[in-house]
Parts: sequence; structure tokens; C-alpha cells
Amino acid sequence: MARKIAAGNWKMNGGSAALSELTALAEATAGATAEIIICPPATLLSRASDATKDTPIAIGGQDCHTASAGAHTGDISTEMLTDAGAMSVILGHSERRTDHGETDALVCAKAETALSANLTAIVCIGETLEEREAGQTLAVAGRQLAASVPASATGATCVVAYEPVWAIGTGKVPTLEQIAEVHDFLRAELTTRFGAEIAEGISLLYGGSVKSSNAADIFAVSNVDGALVGGASLKAADFAPIVTALSNS
Ligand code: PEP
Repeated sequence: MARKIAAGNWKMNGGSAALSELTALAEATAGATAEIIICPPATLLSRASDATKDTPIAIGGQDCHTASAGAHTGDISTEMLTDAGAMSVILGHSERRTDHGETDALVCAKAETALSANLTAIVCIGETLEEREAGQTLAVAGRQLAASVPASATGATCVVAYEPVWAIGTGKVPTLEQIAEVHDFLRAELTTRFGAEIAEGISLLYGGSVKSSNAADIFAVSNVDGALVGGASLKAADFAPIVTALSNS
């Protein structure tokens, strides 16, 4: 069985004052059974890890380099992430693919590096609006899945987040049927590649304008094991109901 995971991606948002949201989130989700991951900006990783030390909230990074150290200005290594208390790392988010030209091959190399460092790799894939309108959604998802998820992936080490690019931060959400179509396809592709036992253990998260108002419906969709949430993860009052909906799904 795949783990139920509610992951929050704070992106380039939040300073010291945002740490109080973690305390509030821990209080508001006490007793929740879903796993909770918050990925703050790198500047907050250590303090976020300290702030969530005695809570079920795990902290994750938003990217990593493939090298362990060296002349890579502005980058962060998996050693640095684990040293700061991170347990996981988002890789291949569409904003990194767009803003930094990250390819599937690079995302896969980063995921392999993350797995070697005992970090859970949250590998993001998803089609653009143009690709969906051209009827290429499954082809794109299949290609990205195959090329971004490393061969060594298991349910314990790797999570896949299906995030249609056109749904991220836009308030637009695919229909439940569209989400089901992609998630069922992804599970089938993982099964073909890894076998049923490993494939069924890999959590498939949906991401793109998830809110408390649509979370329960999305979590009821087949092969949806949780969500990767951007905007609605910034405030505990917005994210806690999503965690609760997942725990009750
Ligand atoms: C994201 O950035 O991964 C995301 C899903 O953002 P939002 O929830 O704001 O659409």
C-alpha cells in the first residue's frame, strides 16, 4: 500500500515569521494519520526542522544538486539538505523545469543522488496546456515518468507527483475523471516497469490548485495517494483541512 502524503511546497515564500505556521499546523493536525511534509525555502530548512522536531511534520527541500559539494553557486547538495534536517526533496517541479531548463535526465540524476543520501525523492511530472489540448497528456506523463524516475526507486524512497502545469497556481483543476485517467495510467506504467509490489508502494500525489474545498473529492479518486500543494500550504489554517481530508480518505 502506498503511503498517504500531504506535501506542502512553500516555493520562494516565507521568512522567520512563517515558522509559526508549522507550530500551528502541528496543533491543527494532531492525530492525523496522513504523512505531512513541508518544503520551505532553503533559508528556513534548519529552523523548520527544529520547529517540527517533536511533531509528525517532516521537512523537505525543493531541489538538490547532483554533486556533494563544490563550485556550484546558489545550489544545495543532498548532504546539506540532510544536515539541515530534511527527509525528502522535491525534484523536477515544473517551475524548475521552466525557469532552470531542467530535463528529465537531470531530474533522474538528482533523484538518484537523493536516494543515495536516504532522502525521499518527490519527482514531479505533468503536461502543459498545449500538450493537453494536443491530446498528448498520457504520452508526456509516460515519457517524463520513465525518464525522471530512477531504476532504483521503491515506495520507501520515491514519490511521484502528477502536476499538470496549467493547474499550478491558477485555480484551474482537471476534472476528477482526468485526474483518474492519468493516475491509473501512471500506476499501470510503474507496474509494467517495476512490478506490482513496488509500483503499488509508490505514492502518486496530485498537485495543482488543491484546496480544502476540493481536497476530499480529489483524494477519493483512484490511485491518488495524496497531494503536493503550493499556495494552500503556506497557512496552517488552509493546509490542515487538506491533511485531515487525506487522513479521512
Ligand atoms: C505546486 O507548486 O506544486 C502547486 C501544486 O502549487 P498550487 O497548489 O499553488 O497550485
